[in-house]
Amino acid sequence: MMNAAERDLRERLAQIGRTLFSEGLTHGTSGNISARISGSDKCLIKPSGYCLGDLKPEHFLIVDNRTREVLEGNGVPSIETPFHTTLYNLRPEVGGVVHLHPHYSVILSITGSEIIPMNMDVYDAPALARGIAISEFAPPGSEKLAENLAEALRQGVAALMPHHGITTVGKTPEEAAQNARVTERLAKVQYETSQVGDPKALPEAVLSELVELAVRKGLLI
Ligand SMILES: [Zn+2]
Repeated sequence: MMNAAERDLRERLAQIGRTLFSEGLTHGTSGNISARISGSDKCLIKPSGYCLGDLKPEHFLIVDNRTREVLEGNGVPSIETPFHTTLYNLRPEVGGVVHLHPHYSVILSITGSEIIPMNMDVYDAPALARGIAISEFAPPGSEKLAENLAEALRQGVAALMPHHGITTVGKTPEEAAQNARVTERLAKVQYETSQVGDPKALPEAVLSELVELAVRKGLLI
């Protein structure tokens, strides 16, 4: 039986999917989102083959984070279920995982450029001041990709995946989505800045203040 908390979480995930799609952060059926079912070793995850903009609350599948078995729902869970579940198992505080292929982040992932906060957008997701890791390349859906992302996201909230995209985490799926949205804004500013001059990082003192701000706000860091 679905309880009120699960129904609410399903509605929130569908809303997040629609918003990320309408913001142009994902195209076609790419990208996937999930949320931990509070206090459990289970998550709700996007089914494979759906566009993030078309998701309805009932589409999400319940998956066991340990066995990756589908416990409830029809359809095939996202191809990236291995890394979503690995991140929940690795970090008990993670309540949401977002994976996207946003345009500017993908460009920087191909050139191997680290996304470094250089402007005030980072105030909208201050945990990113801790740095955006770069994971090692592995094919989509592979066990190796799950291992590489776990390594990159042992701490911090965002990872750039070479030739692929980004994965972000948060205490809630909304927080993970916000970390993804701001990562892409930072990537766009960095890419465009590099066309006209040398990108320069924010002063170290500002970045430390942002990390403190993230802690004060109770964000995952
Ligand atoms: Zn992907």
